[in-house]
Amino acid sequence: MNLLIENIRIFTNTPDTEILPAQSLAVENDLIKETGSAVALRAKYAGFEKLDGQGKLLMPGWINPHMHFYGTFARGMALQKAPQGFKEILEQLWWKLDKALDAESVYYSALIPAITAIKSGVTSVVDHHASPNAIDGSLDRIQQALEITGLRGVLCYEVSDRDGLQKAKAGLAENERYLRKTEKEAGLYRGMIGLHAAFTLSDETLAAAADLGKRTKTGFHIHLAEGKEDDARPQYGISATERLQKAGILNRQTIAAHAIHISEADRAILKSTDTMVVHNPQSNMNNAVGRADLFNLLGDGILTGLGTDGMSVSLFGDMRAANLIHKHDLQDSRAGWTEVQKMVLQNNATIYERVGGVRLGKIAPGLTADLILVDYFPPTPLNCENIWGHILFGIADAPVDTTIINGKIVMRDKKILTADEKEAAAKAREFAQRVWDKI
Ligand SMILES: [Zn+2]
Repeated sequence: MNLLIENIRIFTNTPDTEILPAQSLAVENDLIKETGSAVALRAKYAGFEKLDGQGKLLMPGWINPHMHFYGTFARGMALQKAPQGFKEILEQLWWKLDKALDAESVYYSALIPAITAIKSGVTSVVDHHASPNAIDGSLDRIQQALEITGLRGVLCYEVSDRDGLQKAKAGLAENERYLRKTEKEAGLYRGMIGLHAAFTLSDETLAAAADLGKRTKTGFHIHLAEGKEDDARPQYGISATERLQKAGILNRQTIAAHAIHISEADRAILKSTDTMVVHNPQSNMNNAVGRADLFNLLGDGILTGLGTDGMSVSLFGDMRAANLIHKHDLQDSRAGWTEVQKMVLQNNATIYERVGGVRLGKIAPGLTADLILVDYFPPTPLNCENIWGHILFGIADAPVDTTIINGKIVMRDKKILTADEKEAAAKAREFAQRVWDKI
């Protein structure tokens, strides 16, 4: 579809960031063509479908580089007792929930956050999936849910030895099958090789994963040192980071989520292997596992982004949490302002580009047209120097009006055009109840 979006204020998020008032933007097929004055672009793109932006703010869609769609069914789930500590949270909540998922519940647990993503302006998600009793084809089911809504994604299956070698092998096979499939399709979806975390992976499985990575030239998506429990020293005499490096898991296409309990030597490994890190502060606070040292990660030049770890699919909660947690812990009111801005506005797009093979996150000619139109009419002056303050304290609360992914309008006037939200929720409730009954 060719689209001419008119009567908009544009936040380009380019290195020479600009806020362009009273502009138009032309989208040709899946790419941004150009920005310019209404008169000039009307003359040039006379045949394009017109969309009146009504003076709203047009900006790139948000990118979530660490998410667990299946976490949807944890919402409101009763636990027999409150889990204490990271290991109990895994054992009593997540590892019970993922075991109870079948193929249909995988689909509905992904469909709901896919709809929410579009409503909250998230246009690309890197997901990490687990369903040990429904492994084969699970990534296809997630892709189908994303396809219906139009959301872009990078998917993987979380391989682990916690349920035995057969499940680990099946997980690797699912990653490989999906990687090969998306390679052929060349669409909005890509695969990675998912791994749970070093402490639930045997040497054999890590070696098989590394071999798959080499054969398919693909990176890994793994949790690293989220809790103190993810430490290889007691068993192997080396840190989890060292163990993953030795196994050949860390490289410039690998995402290590969390990286909280790591040393300076571990950081040097992440830097030398150019491994990416994703910070998820809301989840970290919820699990009471600590706080990543953003300042040294970024200071060392490690590509660090901001994700949500399944707490929500929208990025706003974690943006605000990231802005607060470091100030609070360090009792330093300056901490995190520029760092979190860089992670959200620059690094998340670079991470997605590496794993998703698509250029997005900015409004510039030739970049992919993943765009959102926000009901944000700034009550104070808005310029390129103060945009982050407007994002954190204004845009985060402003309704997203229109979401465009790959040049296609998937939400207009706050109405999802691609899926029936109420019907999806009704079906999801039905499957969530079945999943809970199993637990
Ligand atoms: Zn996670």
